[in-house]
Amino acid sequence: MIARTMLLRMADSKKMEAFVKGSRFSAGTTARFIAGEDAAAIVAPVRELNAAGITVSLDFLGESVRTREEVEVTMRTYKSVFETISAQNLKANVSIKLTALGLDIDSDFCYHNMCELLDVAGPVQFIRIDMESTAYTQITLDLFYRLWNEGNYRNVGVVIQAYLRRSAADVEDLIKNNVRVRLCKGAYKEPAELAFPDKADVDANYVALMKRLLSDGNYPGIATHDPAMIAATTAWAKDQNIPSDRYEFQMLYGIRRDLQNQLVKDGYRMRVYTPFGTHWYPYFMRRLAERPANLWFVLKNMLRS
Ligand SMILES: Cc1cc2nc3c(=O)[nH]c(=O)nc-3n(C[C@H](O)[C@H](O)[C@H](O)COP(=O)(O)OP(=O)(O)OC[C@H]3O[C@@H](n4cnc5c(N)ncnc54)[C@H](O)[C@@H]3O)c2cc1C
Repeated sequence: MIARTMLLRMADSKKMEAFVKGSRFSAGTTARFIAGEDAAAIVAPVRELNAAGITVSLDFLGESVRTREEVEVTMRTYKSVFETISAQNLKANVSIKLTALGLDIDSDFCYHNMCELLDVAGPVQFIRIDMESTAYTQITLDLFYRLWNEGNYRNVGVVIQAYLRRSAADVEDLIKNNVRVRLCKGAYKEPAELAFPDKADVDANYVALMKRLLSDGNYPGIATHDPAMIAATTAWAKDQNIPSDRYEFQMLYGIRRDLQNQLVKDGYRMRVYTPFGTHWYPYFMRRLAERPANLWFVLKNMLRS
């Protein structure tokens, strides 16, 4: 718990980011969790996953962007990702954080950037809006509903975090609107007024929301590496006669590959969230916070480099 809190604080620290990136941090250390540095580098890892029967969601790393120039780079990169997906016939969609599209600069600017990308994506490509910390929950959902109601876009979905107390109500609204939801536990450090502090409560809420989404939602993404959550999902699907093509499991690149392959072998759909880019620090630190044992892996690589 202390290690998690410390690592999540470090994830937000620019000073620590400069230190870690300037240290003897070998490419091999991050390569376990990050697919490559640019849009061209993602083709091989995506092909490999597709060949194993796994679809992908591509995330260009970069969040909390403060300048319009940085947003331009993000926009260009996502456009080239869409081109690569169709030119190379990859089985992939994309995931985007609204702060990477300028949410902190101006929410109208961010909205229009999302519209532009959804137009480039077209009806066959899908964009998932990742969920960030609670500073952004409401504004992210507001912007999403604006895209849904005003822009009339249907090739877009959102993420709900089971650790948030508000999520049951949010899920009901999203079900009513037939929105595609990814369900995850939640990766940020949040106060107890907003998020369940105990893992048992987060897990119980995850199972309750999973059941609602599987029964009445639109093709939910069950995003977890937790065998107990996965077992609860397959058991509920069996109990309710919900076929395995009505939902998909989702996991992160490089995490529990054994379980990813096993689920595919067992006939379930699996999508792997695959990040790329050079701004890997906050993403990487959140992965360490989820499993401080990963620190040993990092330290071993640092000593080797
Ligand atoms: C596809 C996908 C998209 C996501 N999108 C978002 C998002 O938009 N917003 C958000 O807040 N969070 C997001 N997350 C992160 C999520 O909220 C959790 O922080 C993360 O998935 C860990 O929770 P868990 O469900 O795997 O269960 P946990 O209870 O944390 O872990 C269960 C088991 O999974 C394995 N495991 C979990 N994490 C790791 C790790 N880092 N390294 C190695 N093993 C691990 C371990 O065996 C662990 O015992 C996403 C996760 C996935 C899989």
